[in-house]
Amino acid sequence: MKLPFTDLGLLHKQDKEEFMKVFEKCLDNSAFIMGEYITELEKGICEFLNCKYAIGVSSGTDALYIPLLAAGIKEGDEVIVPDLTFVATANAVAYIGAKPIFADVDSETWCIDPEDIKKKITSKTRCIIPVHLYGHPADMDPINEIAKEYGLYVIEDAAEAHGAGYKGRKVGSLGDAGVFSFYGNKIITTGEGGMITTNNKDLYERAKFLKDHAMSKEKRYFHPEIGFNYRLTNIQAALGVAQLERIEELINKKRQIFNWYKEYLSDFDKIILNHEKEWAKNVYWMVCMVLKDDANVKRDELMKRLKDEGIDTRPFFYPISEMPMYVKNLNYNNPFTKHLSERGLNLPSGVNLNNEDAKWICTTIKMILKGV
Ligand SMILES: *Cc1c(COP(=O)(O)O)cnc(C)c1O
Repeated sequence: MKLPFTDLGLLHKQDKEEFMKVFEKCLDNSAFIMGEYITELEKGICEFLNCKYAIGVSSGTDALYIPLLAAGIKEGDEVIVPDLTFVATANAVAYIGAKPIFADVDSETWCIDPEDIKKKITSKTRCIIPVHLYGHPADMDPINEIAKEYGLYVIEDAAEAHGAGYKGRKVGSLGDAGVFSFYGNKIITTGEGGMITTNNKDLYERAKFLKDHAMSKEKRYFHPEIGFNYRLTNIQAALGVAQLERIEELINKKRQIFNWYKEYLSDFDKIILNHEKEWAKNVYWMVCMVLKDDANVKRDELMKRLKDEGIDTRPFFYPISEMPMYVKNLNYNNPFTKHLSERGLNLPSGVNLNNEDAKWICTTIKMILKGV
């Protein structure tokens, strides 16, 4: 048996039908680029999150870059990001010319540690980007409090956490702006695409203006500054609308997959799986497994052995502070990031996975870790 690591949303049979339906609708209206689905998706996301404004863009990375720009973050400013995240979180800061400062993560949520944010604030700090890693929300209340105290922006990177809950509210609606990705392996997908969300009208207007060539509202084809093209197409948006209609089903499936793994690994104490804090709803974008120190096989060896058995896995993200372009920034000591990064792996988590698959994967993991 061979198992794909994550199924690209579009590859599911069900989703292929969905795609054909959507495509036909767009064909009927000859509306591939601009059209009503963009607005419909933006409205749908606002309703889903209970937030005021949403702007469709071409990727999650652009969705990070634009609010930074719209907030007026500039060269020489510092932006605090978690050390354990996908590299785009830090790169968006670097595109601005600002400096990403890497904070350590919490040992349970694996998201940015508010205590460490405090330690890394300087007179140059302008913004914090908490990341809701692997589907678990960052602890937003203390982060927002710190931001208020120091006058900082908070941009939530929710690229991996569509629908994740924080004290009854949804991530992406809790800071100055929220960021979503609709890349092929995310909770909902448009192939490529992203969304900016906010409750701040000024930020919304400014972001919308910048992402669409900075065209003057009063004077068509007059551009008072240099803008960008970060548009989402109507076809992508139509696919997004169809995906959003069944987001609860997709999230429930992710949670079910996690519960299968949890059940089949519950009798085994050499590993830790994703946490879910009492104030959180985890959407388990990825089922994650962290090897304890007394596990008799190292992470990379385990991944190789699983691969030999036909089970594809991914390592946790590497600390961004150790990557060549950022390593010079500061001398970092982020022990939890380092710990998790060396011992963590993502297990197959695609929504097509079934109970039998999970059982078989867990049996194989235990067999390898018990040295049988
Ligand atoms: C996927 C991802 C992004 C980037 O999204 P793209 O759509 O691939 O540009 C940013 N941040 C995090 C945490 C991600 O997982």
